[in-house]
Amino acid sequence: MQTQVPAEVTAELPETVNFVRQVELNRTIEGFYPMSKLDRLSEASLGKEGYITAKLEFTDSVGFASLKGKVSAKLLVECQRCLEPVETELTGSFKFALVNSEEDFELLPEEFEPHLIVGEEQSLIELIEDELLLCLPMVTIHDKDCSEYMTKQNRAIQAELKVEKEAEHPFAALKALKDDLNNKVN
Ligand SMILES: [Zn+2]
Repeated sequence: MQTQVPAEVTAELPETVNFVRQVELNRTIEGFYPMSKLDRLSEASLGKEGYITAKLEFTDSVGFASLKGKVSAKLLVECQRCLEPVETELTGSFKFALVNSEEDFELLPEEFEPHLIVGEEQSLIELIEDELLLCLPMVTIHDKDCSEYMTKQNRAIQAELKVEKEAEHPFAALKALKDDLNNKVN
């Protein structure tokens, strides 16, 4: 399955960046990344084709180094009603405050989720994949009619009716015989 990369998204996302440096630069990173390189996400999908897209804004927000982001992906999963493939769209958004120690967590306004900064560079892709995994629906089914599902169900019902009909015959025959005997006796 091919997820269309929007025309304006032309760059492949960098795997890692220095988050704090991006805030200093007030940088927005927008791009795509191939699904095939996202092991955890493609494990949840029936196909490894396509791309995920993300827009990440590194900025100073009310005095906190922050990362606001939007992520999206289209996944092919198994419909839990008819077991045929169904496309599901994942979209997520988040707002992280980039903090250097766990002690800073308590200082954050409620609108932020804390994101601990460790090392020189941080993995952008891992963060995006984490966010997309959080968007995975618990149950996915075709939103309209599961045509395959209905056909299979109908077939099962037809088969059941046929068995019932055949089973009726011995009794019908027996009843006819009984009636016949009764008629002869009377
Ligand atoms: Zn279905």
